[in-house]
Amino acid sequence: MTAAATGHVVIVGAGLAGLSTAEALRAGGHSGLVTLIGAEAALPYDRPPLSKEVLRGERPSTALRTEAWFAEQNIELLTGTTVTGIDPDRGVVELPDRQLSADVIVLATGGTPRELPAGVNTLPAGHAAVHQLRTADDCRRLSECMRPGQRLVVVGAGLIGAEATACAVTRGCQVSMVAHRELPLAAAIGVEAAALLHHRHTTHGVAVHQAGVTHISAADDGTIRVGLSTGRILAADALLVGIGIAADTALAQSAGIAVDNGILVDARQRTSHQRVLAVGDACRRRGPDGQPMPRIEHWDHALRSGQTAAATILGAPEQPSRAPWFWSDRYDIHLEMVGHLDPSAEAATRLHTDDALSVFYLRDGFCVAAVTVNQPLDTRAAQRLIDQHIAVTAAQLTDPAVSLRQLVRG
Ligand SMILES: Cc1cc2nc3c(=O)[nH]c(=O)nc-3n(C[C@H](O)[C@H](O)[C@H](O)COP(=O)(O)OP(=O)(O)OC[C@H]3O[C@@H](n4cnc5c(N)ncnc54)[C@H](O)[C@@H]3O)c2cc1C
Repeated sequence: MTAAATGHVVIVGAGLAGLSTAEALRAGGHSGLVTLIGAEAALPYDRPPLSKEVLRGERPSTALRTEAWFAEQNIELLTGTTVTGIDPDRGVVELPDRQLSADVIVLATGGTPRELPAGVNTLPAGHAAVHQLRTADDCRRLSECMRPGQRLVVVGAGLIGAEATACAVTRGCQVSMVAHRELPLAAAIGVEAAALLHHRHTTHGVAVHQAGVTHISAADDGTIRVGLSTGRILAADALLVGIGIAADTALAQSAGIAVDNGILVDARQRTSHQRVLAVGDACRRRGPDGQPMPRIEHWDHALRSGQTAAATILGAPEQPSRAPWFWSDRYDIHLEMVGHLDPSAEAATRLHTDDALSVFYLRDGFCVAAVTVNQPLDTRAAQRLIDQHIAVTAAQLTDPAVSLRQLVRG
């Protein structure tokens, strides 16, 4: 990397990945300037609670670190500041009112929720009844309309849509969910776990519609009308669009950095420009063969990619890689997934109870992924089986009498 331990590192984006980079730089002994710039006005905060306890109204969104912590760490934090451009060749970061010079630029710009096409959503931009869920402000707006009896239509049955649906149910809303696929998330977490999770909506009184959305309009009384490809029209007081995010790659793209559904990086978070690294939801890693792998949009990846970027800047040795991990909570279900789901892998299911199971995925005698429902200890074991490349059989994994801890210890 080009930066000496005394260079100025400018991190664009003050979400978890940006914060993790700054924190790991200081922890690793970087003595130069570190500037963390975020477009949002708030101190960096965690996003997962926004579709869980914060949206259920159980607690407010809170900062990950205090102002005093930034001062102690000598990390310059610029909130409410949008970076308008970067010039990596000259080492310049453009702010609305001035320029910063940087030895290293880290792009931690995250992602932006996808919107329904304008031809489908005919409501004026920024309509008060239409919601997305990415920021603490989004969460506050959505939370305000989750009153008992309110009719909420959730478009999209991915992780965020499902978690928000469960929150709305808890708060007494009447929820309709529009899912494009019969079994949402099956490609990501496997058919067995996806079925268990998706059916939970129905048992909690959610009206699930397998359809596409064809049009959205407002009636004279302000009611939102959501037209479906089945011909049905749903009436709603509010609408949540949860159809995924697009990586924020604009700064990288305009600087000529290689981008393909994410800022392309190697295993050390280096982009195609030697002065620029990228981390978190905004980046997409190339595999050992140079081909881009699926982009990861999870908390653990944001944390770890920031730590890897800091190690790269500091010239520290590469850490052993760990299988990706995420979790999701809805109703009484705690889901965890570790590893890369490979459709060709053999599934081995360990059934604990009706509401608790683990599905391990095996290839050539090794575990490559696992999905667990209400079994976090099985996730920990699977993580070690994958990371330590421990040989196992489907018979061992399916039998609840076989201790996974023993398997891991060998
Ligand atoms: C509601 C919600 C629930 C989630 N739940 C889970 C979960 O249960 N489990 C899990 O594993 N993951 C979860 N995630 C995903 C996880 O939170 C994200 O992967 C993680 O927050 C990504 O961090 P990031 O720093 O890469 O991006 P972000 O957190 O999006 O941060 C990027 C920041 O960069 C800023 N920015 C962008 N462009 C500029 C610019 N030009 N100038 C200045 N600033 C800029 C943005 O304003 C933003 O604040 C959830 C995400 C959301 C939204």
